[in-house]
Amino acid sequence: EFISVSNLADVIGVRPANFVSRMEDMGFEDVHYDHVLDAETAGLVAAEFNYEAIFDDGTADLTAAPPPEDASDLPTRPPVVTIMGHVDHGKTTILDWLRKSSVAAGEHGGITQHIGAFSVPMPSGKMITFLDTPGHSAFLEMRRRGADVTDIVVLVVAADDSVKPQTIEAIKHATQANVPVIVAMSKIDKEGCNPDKVKQDLSVHGVHVEDYGGDVQAIGVSGKTGAGMIELEEAIGALSEMLDHRADTECNAEGWVLEASTKSYGRVASALIRRGTLRPGDIIVAGTTWARVRTLRNEAGVAISEATPGMPVEIDGWRDQPAAGTEILQAPTEQRAKEAVDYRLERSETVKMGEDMAAINEARLEKRRLEKTDEEADVSEPTGPKPVNFIIKADVDGSAEAVLNSIAAIGTNEVYANVLRSSVGPISEFDIEHAASANGLVISFNMPIDPNMSRIAESEGVKIMDHNIIYKLIDEVKAVLSEQLPPTI
Ligand code: GDP
Repeated sequence: EFISVSNLADVIGVRPANFVSRMEDMGFEDVHYDHVLDAETAGLVAAEFNYEAIFDDGTADLTAAPPPEDASDLPTRPPVVTIMGHVDHGKTTILDWLRKSSVAAGEHGGITQHIGAFSVPMPSGKMITFLDTPGHSAFLEMRRRGADVTDIVVLVVAADDSVKPQTIEAIKHATQANVPVIVAMSKIDKEGCNPDKVKQDLSVHGVHVEDYGGDVQAIGVSGKTGAGMIELEEAIGALSEMLDHRADTECNAEGWVLEASTKSYGRVASALIRRGTLRPGDIIVAGTTWARVRTLRNEAGVAISEATPGMPVEIDGWRDQPAAGTEILQAPTEQRAKEAVDYRLERSETVKMGEDMAAINEARLEKRRLEKTDEEADVSEPTGPKPVNFIIKADVDGSAEAVLNSIAAIGTNEVYANVLRSSVGPISEFDIEHAASANGLVISFNMPIDPNMSRIAESEGVKIMDHNIIYKLIDEVKAVLSEQLPPTI
């Protein structure tokens, strides 16, 4: 993961002296031959010499070849759709309506279960895959983890309420991600609807619908009565056809983990296949775990013999639970899968140590800065709300996220909760040291606390907040924040 300046010069085939002066031209100061560069910096420098750095994470050879330039011979695949919009504008109701027409449920007379996504047949017989979680956080979270699964965003805007702050947020996210939008003007069964106002307001925010100088489709729908829902599906189908979504079904399977959980029959992860075809018996790697696929299930919980691109599927057979958003790659053998996982585990240790040290150093600097301002408090009164720092540790990804989301929303004009880090696993010495250096608190959610760690925290003067019920935790966070408020006169 690290390479010295002279070794990198050697690899690239440039005389070290020239190499060093070139680095100084790039803005590096005091470069020596034996300076060690991290992978990212080395990549940057290499790029300067027209070399492209490949960061081998142990699975570089598992990825299928890039899709052909002319993909028109490949089979079409269902589009993957995320529903976004302002709270209470009817996202869940629309999803519920769609879920009822889910293929799997229809074919098997069952009920669609939550596996992160489900597919719906259009009148034409083609499929649409909907991500099951409405809202921005799911969309952003997947993107933050590098998984661009969404092909189309359905922007839900209540026809009786028009554009609201989260509508604008959703537009921003879709635009940033370069994902095309279809507008669903919801609740059209209600009195007082004004679709024209919706269209007008949208154009103010850069979404230009048909009749308003643009080509974005806007369809009036009701998740309650089902009005307009077929038209919405057809609009999605037409857009997908235009965008020509296709994928190879013959190559090694690749995909993304949508969600992971433990069910009565074992550790499972739902996934969306991007390319290739996944079958029981296949071996796959996801992050630092792997699986020999035991069973593939569709959203009705029925075992299926293969999963093709764009199809949501539940996979079991995992050694450890994979994290949501990680990439799935097929490996030729168990041996190869294990090697890839071992390599990644080793690497993540090194990277993590580096990150931990950087975090501690930064916190120390910040503390010194704060102490300084304390001394000079009379001179420079700090402006703006004051942060109270928290480190979150939780039992699983889901609860870490839930805690993060609820804590991060707490605050006033004077004081607010600032989350330094949020992760899964028991409290470690590092967490305590990090909190101590940042005058922060550690939250332990739904986990036993090692008595040794309690002792260390006590001697470091770090408070540990131990909870397993969110609203109680929120209450205590609020109490901690209000202690920080200046006394009222
Ligand atoms: P979300 O927060 O965007 O997921 O919104 P919900 O789907 O939970 O809907 C919020 C409220 O609006 C609920 O009380 C729904 O019953 C109601 N609602 C949603 N869609 C419709 C609709 O098409 N027509 C009517 N009349 N009410 C709706």
